[in-house]
Amino acid sequence: MSTQNDAFKKLVAHAKEYGFIFPSSEIYDGLGAVYDYGPYGVLLKNNIKEYWWRSMVQMHQNIVGLDAAIFMHPTTWKASGHVDAFNDPLIDNKDSKKRYRADQLVEGYIEKIEAKMEKEVAKGRKRFGESFDEKQFRETHPRVVQYATRIRELQERLGQLLSEGDLEGLKNMIEELEIADPETGSRNWTEVRQFNLMFATQLGAVAGEGGKLYLRPETAQGIFVNFLNVQKTTRQKIPFGIAQIGKAFRNEIVARQFIFRMREFEQMEMQFFVRPGTEMEWYNYWKETRMNWHKKLGTPDSELRFHDHDNLAHYANAAVDIEYRFPFGFRELEGIHSRTDFDLSSHEQHSGKKLRYFDPETKETYVPYVVETSIGCDRMFLAVLSGALQEESVRGAEGKESSRDVLKLPPALAPVKCAILPLKRNEERLTKTAREIFDRLKRSFYCQYDDTGSIGKLYRRQDAIGTPYCITVDFETLDDQTVTLRERDSLQQERIPIDQLEKVIAEKTDMKNLL
Ligand code: ATP
Repeated sequence: MSTQNDAFKKLVAHAKEYGFIFPSSEIYDGLGAVYDYGPYGVLLKNNIKEYWWRSMVQMHQNIVGLDAAIFMHPTTWKASGHVDAFNDPLIDNKDSKKRYRADQLVEGYIEKIEAKMEKEVAKGRKRFGESFDEKQFRETHPRVVQYATRIRELQERLGQLLSEGDLEGLKNMIEELEIADPETGSRNWTEVRQFNLMFATQLGAVAGEGGKLYLRPETAQGIFVNFLNVQKTTRQKIPFGIAQIGKAFRNEIVARQFIFRMREFEQMEMQFFVRPGTEMEWYNYWKETRMNWHKKLGTPDSELRFHDHDNLAHYANAAVDIEYRFPFGFRELEGIHSRTDFDLSSHEQHSGKKLRYFDPETKETYVPYVVETSIGCDRMFLAVLSGALQEESVRGAEGKESSRDVLKLPPALAPVKCAILPLKRNEERLTKTAREIFDRLKRSFYCQYDDTGSIGKLYRRQDAIGTPYCITVDFETLDDQTVTLRERDSLQQERIPIDQLEKVIAEKTDMKNLL
């Protein structure tokens, strides 16, 4: 646990030190669960968004984009169910005055059993060595079976209580399991209450309920209310999708995990409209397609998994999460939901406007069904960053071992693609040539020219921000117009002509490689 915590602390510190993420309004001691993206953060985030956008909109002729406003007519949120049902069950500890999500307290309890079970499996692996059959072990080892059964029981019970909105049952469960405040150990709990996660504000000069507006808690509704506008203007035929990237706001009760759970965050959502009855086929298609999108980044299989929902949201008939192994364990990164015709039908009812599609193939008019893929951009950022940050020991020029922090980002996502470094900063012939190379390359990529330290120091700095290539200009360059190109991960250095730089770097860092 503590090494996990240390790794996470290191990640947060690295993100700040190297200009990726700052706490919001830090000079005023910050604002809970709100963060700002620094100079390298914004570049990395934009690249993540571009990867998603291009995979959706550029790669699919039947997916188009949208950028809807954050403010929407307040009835939108009545129709979507957010006014009545976008609640989290909260519980306070009377002694510590700390506030928790009741469901997360139970989940924490379940995670502890999971950890015990995994420890047992690890022991088995060690004991049996090569001949270890993990599947058989999990199915037959009495203690492991016992743990697994208990986990299933608890998950099912929690799922049922949540879908029934049974707050008293939830409180009973917490008491029965003797769950204590994780920070103080106290078991002196209040009742469980529902807490609505939407932020409200006021429109213009209209006071009171009439002027009450919400900051959108998801981008999806902007897509639903524009369904016909988009379909008609683009002449799309079902099945087709609408993709959107934008801010969303949730007044999260517990927000302690850096940018994993924020109060202001960004979503990348795509709603795919299909003929009723075909939704499961598309649900499975998007499940696989989205998982492949993650794997294309080189994320190992062991770091990603599907997790089926135990309790379905009011709008869904099937739902799965793609979970990533964050430094604090497997957590939801993306959701894929089969939302039926819930949203469009509800908007029809509340607006009195038809949101239907005439299918020229079947000659029927219907309210389309929807399969949604929804991923948090910031969560994806955290996943990318935590997968990339490594501490390595490397051998320097004189054979001396030293350690380096390196961000092994996929080159297409890296904030800076190459750095141009003169071997000696006081040698004008070198700095002049290096600047010329910088001026040539900057039209094609984000580059940096840096002559503020020894070459070793400059390499370390580029490693820490994940720059895939460093170009070193030395005295040989002046004679033969070649430079050293150093690759971040392998540390291999090759001598190449200046003329070839653009082509080589473009090939390796192009977003095309991911699509
Ligand atoms: P969670 O259970 O973690 O609260 P959720 O199931 O409520 O998430 P969705 O409503 O399905 O999340 O939102 C889709 C995606 O948006 C999530 O998979 C996640 O990546 C992202 N997301 C949701 N809430 C937040 C948040 N508070 N901060 C950052 N990202 C978020």
